Amino acid sequence: MADLSLRNVKKIYDNSVVAVQSFNLEIADKEFIVLVGPSGCGKSTTLRMVAGLEEISEGELYIGGRKVNTVPPKDRDIAMVFQNYALYPHMTVYDNIAYGLKLRKFPKRVIDQKVREAAEILDITELLKRKPKALSGGQRQRVAIGRAIVREPQVFLMDEPLSNLDAKLRNQMRSEIIKLRQRINTTFIYVTHDQTEAMTLGDRIVIMKEGFVQQVGTPQEVFRHPANLFVAGFIGTPQMNTFDARLIREGGRYSVELEGARVALSPEKEARLLAGDVPGQEVVLGVRPEHIVLTQMSGGVPARVDVSEMMGSAVHIHVEACGREAVIVVPVSEEAAERGEDVISTGTLVRFTFRGSAVHVFDRETGRNLEYGPEPPAAEANPPVASQAEEPAPLAAEPSPALPEEPASAPGEDVLQDIGDPFAEDDT
Ligand code: ADP
Repeated sequence: MADLSLRNVKKIYDNSVVAVQSFNLEIADKEFIVLVGPSGCGKSTTLRMVAGLEEISEGELYIGGRKVNTVPPKDRDIAMVFQNYALYPHMTVYDNIAYGLKLRKFPKRVIDQKVREAAEILDITELLKRKPKALSGGQRQRVAIGRAIVREPQVFLMDEPLSNLDAKLRNQMRSEIIKLRQRINTTFIYVTHDQTEAMTLGDRIVIMKEGFVQQVGTPQEVFRHPANLFVAGFIGTPQMNTFDARLIREGGRYSVELEGARVALSPEKEARLLAGDVPGQEVVLGVRPEHIVLTQMSGGVPARVDVSEMMGSAVHIHVEACGREAVIVVPVSEEAAERGEDVISTGTLVRFTFRGSAVHVFDRETGRNLEYGPEPPAAEANPPVASQAEEPAPLAAEPSPALPEEPASAPGEDVLQDIGDPFAEDDT
């Protein structure tokens, strides 16, 4: 249990690649922080600097109030779980979990108690006598987590721990990590490229791109108030739709105009735009697929259906509208499904609209969300936002809530590596 402070942390590799740029973050004791972003954005480098596995080129890192820039990994009171499990293949599960404690010369009785407690938490008691090669990927990852748990570290670091698992196991282990977090009550920093993992696990999410932090916030904040187009596109599935549109300002009132359809913005959005004295301008308009509703009314935006995907409780309709491709999530009622009216055939012309509380306006040049200043919306700076249900749809019926979509299955290599535990190995 410890708080962490990363102050202007920067990483320049020997080949002069700048992997992380001025990373600033205060992490509270027992907080679960997720670093998320596409491959190469600097997530692992940041985590490895916290672990002490990479040198910090510039800036300061504090763990529990102590500056640890030059403190070796084994003295940082940290445990780390890697994507590739890093188990010793010749040792039993029991010995793999016990290994770090043995190195630290804990009494046998204490080791036995801690190993059995961890095994119970992870539901692997019956596997303790097996060797790693006789375990499934999910079981191996549990052993790797068990080895970290017995350390009772101040900070628990996880680097893509679920990436080698298939989609079903990944979902199961995700819930296990949520439960684990409730049981071991420590500070977590978790790295993933998967926004669903980030959204479901994090108290706060740090979204990174090309070494720069794009936004830090709770899952709800980054979903509802994306700082820029990158965050808007990265968080949420299916991805947010974007259109070229016009932001119109008339005195203190704002609306957006898209293909002749005009939607007044909600008072909260108007207030934020007014606070920044944002003038009317050409913008990129962002609307999430689940916030678009089909309408029969003539004021709606015309669209042509390309593909209609039945997802069970909703249909994802891919359309062409305003020269762009867009997705509309249409909830399916039992009645519509029974009448066979749940799928819209290719080529159908439809019209859609959206609420003024559910749209985002982005600067055409910079991609910045115009509701906020140049700085990303800070967690505490986000004013409370009225529930969307309070805002009547201008043209049509109530849209459905977001449908979380499962990430695609991508089982990776499943290799046992005899690299052991870098934190323990440092002790030898
Ligand atoms: P992520 O974890 O987000 O995929 P990384 O932190 O692994 O990203 O990498 C960030 C950037 O640093 C990438 O451009 C990557 O190629 C580079 N990089 C990572 N490790 C090294 C290294 N040991 N030497 C040089 N460049 C590296």
